This record gives sequence, structure tokens and C-alpha cells, in this order.
Amino acid sequence: MDNANRLAMDADAANQAKSEFLANMSHEIRTPMNGVIGMTGLLLDTALDPEQREYADIIKSSADSLLTIINDILDFSKIEAGKLELEMLDFDLRTTLEDLCELLSLRADEKGLEFTCLMEPDVPSCLEGDPGRIRQVLTNLIGNAVKFTSQGEVVLHVTLDNEDEQQAMVRFLVRDTGIGIPVEKVISLFQPFTQVDSSMTRRFGGTGLGLSISKRLVELMGGRIDVASEEGRGSTFWFTVPFKKQSVEKVCATVPQADGDLAQAKILVVDDNPINRRVFAGMLAVWNCRFDEAPGALLALDKLHAAAAAGDPFRLAILDLVMPDMDGETLGRMIKEDPLVKDIILVMMTSAGRRGDAVRLEKIGFDAYLNKPVKQSQLLNCLKTVLGWKKPAKSTQHRLVTRHTVAEGLKRKIRILVAEDNITNQKVAVGMLESMGYRADAVADGREAVKALKTIPYDLVLMDVQMPEMDGFEATKMIRNSTLPVLKHDIPIIAMTAHAIKGDREKCLEAGMDDYVSKPVKPKELAQVINRWIFGRSILEGKQPDENKDTSTVRLDRAALLKRLDGDEELCREILDLYLRDGAEQIVALEEAVTQSDDRQIPKLAHRLKGSSGNVEAVAMVELTIELEQAGNNGNIDNMLEILEKIKTEYSLLKRMINRGKPS
Ligand code: ADP
Repeated sequence: MDNANRLAMDADAANQAKSEFLANMSHEIRTPMNGVIGMTGLLLDTALDPEQREYADIIKSSADSLLTIINDILDFSKIEAGKLELEMLDFDLRTTLEDLCELLSLRADEKGLEFTCLMEPDVPSCLEGDPGRIRQVLTNLIGNAVKFTSQGEVVLHVTLDNEDEQQAMVRFLVRDTGIGIPVEKVISLFQPFTQVDSSMTRRFGGTGLGLSISKRLVELMGGRIDVASEEGRGSTFWFTVPFKKQSVEKVCATVPQADGDLAQAKILVVDDNPINRRVFAGMLAVWNCRFDEAPGALLALDKLHAAAAAGDPFRLAILDLVMPDMDGETLGRMIKEDPLVKDIILVMMTSAGRRGDAVRLEKIGFDAYLNKPVKQSQLLNCLKTVLGWKKPAKSTQHRLVTRHTVAEGLKRKIRILVAEDNITNQKVAVGMLESMGYRADAVADGREAVKALKTIPYDLVLMDVQMPEMDGFEATKMIRNSTLPVLKHDIPIIAMTAHAIKGDREKCLEAGMDDYVSKPVKPKELAQVINRWIFGRSILEGKQPDENKDTSTVRLDRAALLKRLDGDEELCREILDLYLRDGAEQIVALEEAVTQSDDRQIPKLAHRLKGSSGNVEAVAMVELTIELEQAGNNGNIDNMLEILEKIKTEYSLLKRMINRGKPS
């Protein structure tokens, strides 16, 4: 080996050692930071005078930003040391993007920027890959775009570069109308610790690591990243990622389907932003709506009049609130005062967080409002609701459909710990929980989680399974170990599992976790599982359930059972024990019948299990047995196997819930 080679190898080794050192260091720094953040959270819950509160708030926000920097450094050194592993999950790109954009739109909105998210209809959505890392890169690019833009818009545009049967090359493009980047700086932009203008950074914050992390992540995923920018006019960052497509057998319910009603509806979208109009065109086309668009109020009025005069009036109009010539509110008022077109259903489209508008809009005659960026499923729900009304234009006091759910007092008292090593996934989970009205802190591995649970009385843990240092299984064992000084050994632990890994969920339950959600975590699923464990358990503990809770399927309505038994606790326990024993036998019998494809026995056995489950108010189990009974009658064996698996899991969850409801 010549000298130059040896030197290069030495340099590589030194670099690697440095990165490993950094990774360890960041970890050591982070653990006490978690303490600072968690404890300040507790402090903020106590009675403080305004001055004290201000100090505590500053500690909290400084600690949060310090942790962000540490996390960035950790992520970067992990990549450099070759220790970062990508997750391979089945995920739905469209919903992942919609959820992400919902979170990010808040920041854009605060700055008065228009934020649009457009995914072309031909981009396949059921993919395999690492949605957490995609989200991380997009969060950084969109975050930067918002940070360096003071007026105008930020657009996320997702297109398909090429595809074959197995793969799709997807292109993500983030465009802004901000300050732009001088040509000579563009080359070094993706190098670590590069910032174009440090005075800017002092104003906006940041570490200069975001883009270099993004570049490495994109390359790790097999793609490319680059930028085109013009100083003073804006920047366009783009990256490509090749994804594997999910296998064809899987049903991916990406685009929510509409039933007959919508296909008849004639809808006008009024928005000055052409991309936004395209977003609607794409969504409405899927449901076969008759659709037209107008870039401004005057043209909109013309179109409404012309359609009415031709005897084929529009049924519904979606109006953007902020438009240059005439805003949506004024246009709405004009429409409602115009005898020719006043019967049209009006939907207002506003940026998130304008709660105060609801009453005023309703008075004018709006029937619903949508928050931007609009999600396909929300649009569908909204349209179905308003079009389903018998007398569309008549609005009564409480009819206005809004997306806001009020965060109830009870929820705010509940503290959730998120243990997850991917920082973006952490942020997403914490963000989702906070938007549901809970308090949440995050730690990056099992060891940190156990430490946090020793000092802070959390009410529930959301636990990633695969984490460095200490994984979710081991952490759960430690939490459940009553000889360790953890505050609540029986705290509900919800695993976050990769759907693809078979047997993972069973392993979670065996390890002592209580339930699971699949990754990437979806808000609805998360809300349901937390409801089940926070409010479901309060039923077990005899507390009043929260009256505003989501109407997700209850696992076990013990209160109803108890009521039927005239409040006889002992009898209730006996019956539940009996149900568990009997249920276990029934499931064995069912399994046998399903394995032998005995389609005479299956519906009978399913029916029996349905009966006994109904008897103890095991609501979710009843639903599953109904499904199985139907599948049995239709002779659909694949479906039966799948439902049987669900029944088995539901049984073990029920068992755990019932056993834990017992007084110790
Ligand atoms: P950070 O934003 O944390 O400083 P990044 O690596 O994400 O670090 O960005 C590095 C630098 O690139 C920023 O400090 C900024 O000078 C420049 N930059 C990134 N995105 C944009 C953008 N959309 N518009 C203008 N400048 C940008």
C-alpha cells in the first residue's frame, strides 16, 4: 500500500472515530436535556406568578431549541459513522404528505404565506420505503422555504419521473418566492455547517446542518437532491427517491371513494391560486364531480349566473377567503343576497387556526369551512355532509361543519411520553398528540424512556420497537419490573410497530406492552388507541369517560356490563373470567375450522363467539365476529384467515385489559 492510500485510510478511520464519539456525546447530553424539558413542563403546571411563568417558558423554549441542535448533530454523526439504518415500511405517500403539510402549514400561515401541496394523480401512493426520512427531508426543505420567504408562496409539488411494475421514481419539488441563494454559494450549500449569510441565521436560527443531512438521507435512499435558485426571486429545491411499489394483492385505500351523490354535483372552485385550483380539479375528478373553476370573484359570479340562466345551476361553490380583488367572504355575501344564485351551498376555504370566523361565516350563509391545505378525505367528508342536507342553503345555528375539535380539559392533564429514535417521527408524534390536546415529550431510546419514567409521572408511553441503545421490548420489561424505581409500573405502553414485520405485534404484547399502532403513525389510529387506554381504562377504574371522546370502537364497555349486572362488581369479574376461558376454547375451535376451510362450521362458531362477546359488551370483538361470520358465509378463505388473526389479537388485548382492570 502506498503512503497516500494509507493516509487516506487513516483519515477515514479518524473521521469515523470522530463521528462515533459525537454520536455518543450527543446521547449523553440529551439525557439530562430530557430531564430539563420534562421537569420544566411539570413546573409550568404549577401555580406560578407571571414573572416566574415567563422564566419557565424561556427555559422550556431554550431547552427545546438546544435539543433540536443536539439531535441534528446526532443524526449527522450517525449518518457519517454509517450507523443510520433506513426503515422499510409499507406506507401511503398521499396521506403521509397530507399529514405533514397539515403540520407545516401552520408555520407558513403564521407568516402569511400561501402554502400548497400538490401530488399529481399519476404518482403511485402505496409504496415501500422510509416515510419518516422522507418527512424529515421535506420538513427541512419546506421549513427553510418558509423561513427564507417573507411574502408569496411555498409549493410542494410531487411528480412521477418514471415507473415500472416494481418501482416508481418520485420527484419532490419545494418552490418558494423568498430571498433566493447567490450562484456562488449554491455549490457549498449541501456541505455541513454552511449558511449563506450568518446574520440571517442569527435572525432565523438554524445550524447549517439541515441540507447536508437531507442530501445524505436522499442519497442513502438511492436518490438525488439539487437546487435552482435566483437571488431575490426564490429557490426551488428538488429531490428524487426510488420507491418499491407495494405488491399488487394489497388493497390500498388511498383515494377515498365517493358514492353516487357526488357524481351528480356541479361544483365551482374560486381561488386566485392556480395550483390550488389544480389540487381541487384533481380531487374532484376522482369522484366524477362536474367541476369548474374561477380565479376571482367577478368571473365566479358570471359563471354562477350563466349556469343558472342555462337551467343547470351550480350546487356548491368553494370560495377561498383571501383573494386580491374581492375576498371570499364578500363574494359569499353577494351570492347569498342575489336571488338568482342564493341557493347554492357555500364552503369557505381558509388557512388553519381561524376559529373565530365560524360564527360570522355561518351568519353570512356558509355551510362549511375547510382548512388549507385541504386533505382529500376531509374534502370528501365535507362535501358528503353538506350535499346530504335536505335543504342545502338553510343553515341553523350549529350546523357549520368545522374541522376543529376542542381540546378538552381532561386531555390537557394527560402526559404522554414518546420514545422514538427518528427525530422527525418524534416531532410528528408529539405534534399529533399536541394537536389532539395532550401534552407530550419525546426521548430517543429505551434507556432515556426508563429514566424519564423514574422522575416524571407520565400517563402513557408511545414506544417505538426498534431503537438503538435499548429497544422497546427491553425498556418495557424494565418499566414493568417492580423492583426498579419507575413511578408507574402499570403505565399503558403502546408499541409503534412496522406492519411489515410479521409476529412483531405478538412480541410486543408478550413483552408487556398493551397495544400497538402501525408505523407510519396515523392521527386517527393514534387517537383511537389512546382513547382506548386513557378513557377505556378510566371506565375500568370507574371514572366518567370523556364525553367528547372520539367514537372509536370501544374494546370493552365494562360500564354497560356493570349496569346490566346492577353494579355487582364481583359478578362482573366472574363473568369476564368465564368469558376469557370460554373465548380461548372457542378461538381454538375457530382456528381449526378455518384451517380446514370448514365453511359450515365457521359461521356457526363465529356466531357463537359473537353471542358471548356481545354478552360481556366486548364491542370490538363483536364487530370482528360479524365480519368473520359474513366472510364464512361468502366462502372467502383469505379474508377469514386475516379476520381470525385480528380476533386472536383482539382476544389477547381484551384479556390483558380485563386482567389489569382487576384490583391488585
Ligand atoms: P439551517 O437552515 O439550519 O441554517 P440548512 O442546511 O437547512 O441549515 O440550510 C443552510 C443554508 O442554506 C441556510 O442557512 C440558508 O442560508 C440557505 N437556504 C436554505 N434553504 C433556503 C431557501 N429556501 N431560501 C434561501 N436560502 C436558503
